[in-house]
Amino acid sequence: MPHHFLRYLFSALLLALPLAAIAQTAEHLPLFDGHMHYNQEAREVISPQEVIDLWKRLKIHYVLATSRPNEGSLDLMELAKKTAPSIKIFPFLRPYQIQADHYDWFKSEKIRAYVHTELKRGIYKGIGEFHLFGKDAQAPYVVTIAQLAKERGLWLHAHCDEYALEQLLAHAPGVKIIWAHTGMSTPLSQIDALFAKHPQIMGELSFRNDLLVEEKLDPAWLRLLTKYPTRFMLGTDTWINQRWTYVPELIAYYHKVLAQLPLPLAENLAFKNGLAALE
Ligand SMILES: [Zn+2]
Repeated sequence: MPHHFLRYLFSALLLALPLAAIAQTAEHLPLFDGHMHYNQEAREVISPQEVIDLWKRLKIHYVLATSRPNEGSLDLMELAKKTAPSIKIFPFLRPYQIQADHYDWFKSEKIRAYVHTELKRGIYKGIGEFHLFGKDAQAPYVVTIAQLAKERGLWLHAHCDEYALEQLLAHAPGVKIIWAHTGMSTPLSQIDALFAKHPQIMGELSFRNDLLVEEKLDPAWLRLLTKYPTRFMLGTDTWINQRWTYVPELIAYYHKVLAQLPLPLAENLAFKNGLAALE
């Protein structure tokens, strides 16, 4: 190889380096939103096109969508396909038609029929988000749902306490679960024990407001994220209209978390774990 070519190559690399370094900071990572609802009433405050535009602006390239009713997710998917093909939406079957269903979905004949019909679409990556606490996890329909998910290779997206989580896993050993909010307030030592025991659980981090303490990543959280580098994902949880207003703030919060992680771990948390689970 001629000497002058090597010199050219070397200076080209030098020039490219700062650009590459900038491109790889946390701010520039694509994001996977592992907890998005586009519910019926959200249409009053944000149109499907505005949702897509917001995602583009915030570099949310991947979305776990779970809407009440499911048409919210389906409309976004259709629009993204037409106007933003780089955005990838992973739809989950939400077993709710109205907000009140979250109290008794597991006892409701109406919901049982709804889930049955929705499953026929054959597009869902999982079932949820559903709410489940304490002894409700023993309801026969919860057993059915857990086993159905296991049989079909679907994820469960469960907003549940530790007891209900263990019950779901007992109903259908090996079933894959995205644990919404990672238990919300479950102590980190308990999350650690559950993750060690059940390798197929992933933790979604919306409403875990304890990640940062005075802007600094909590050392106990850093240890947990480092111990389980492939098990956590971010989420916004737009469960009420007001929450849509906060999406940019929520993403800014996550950027602060990501900026304090080694890049490979930041990439995992930002989008790679979600993709590895759902693609
Ligand atoms: Zn939610």
